[in-house]
Amino acid sequence: MVDWNWIYKLLNDITPLPVDCGRLCGSACCKEWERGVGMYLLPGEEIMFDRDEQWLIWEERSTGDDNYYPGRQGTLNFVRCHGTCPRNKRPFACRTFPVSPYLTPRGELQLRFEESAVLICPLVKAGDIQLLDRRFMARVRLAWEELLQNPLIREDVERKSRRLDRIGAEPWQKLLARD
Ligand code: SF4
Ligand code: SF4
Repeated sequence: MVDWNWIYKLLNDITPLPVDCGRLCGSACCKEWERGVGMYLLPGEEIMFDRDEQWLIWEERSTGDDNYYPGRQGTLNFVRCHGTCPRNKRPFACRTFPVSPYLTPRGELQLRFEESAVLICPLVKAGDIQLLDRRFMARVRLAWEELLQNPLIREDVERKSRRLDRIGAEPWQKLLARD
């Protein structure tokens, strides 16, 4: 069983850069940069919240919406904030943004930039994940190693990874390839 308290603690005081990267972009990822933007909680993550917390708006969405966990029956928690939060309560997605997991076809975990973050995040636009703080990357990796113990989460990461493989293999990608 995933130890959510441990994961939150691991990522409590760490950020993508050793300095506050929000100064680069005016904390773009905390703004409503697209109408209704928010984030899904991972399965089980809801235990870290009281539903009556005023700083989050809660919504239940069916699995399969937005292509999450296709083929599974159930609901997922989707949350939105008002641009501020008690920092030690922020969701997992905020703690690890703009990094996401990728599983190779052999099942090895890699960390990559979140593809959709290129629209808003200067770190992603810079295009070099090596620029991120090593301690941050190490902790994000530890967190994902723990999360991938959950078969449902692992299955979803695998599915998204294969999708990325397919996109990467499309002919138009070669037009963007750099030496
Ligand atoms: S958008 Fe990127 S650079 Fe800006 S605060 Fe978020 S993670 Fe940091
Ligand atoms: S919950 Fe906090 S860290 Fe996450 S987007 Fe909202 S203000 Fe930013």
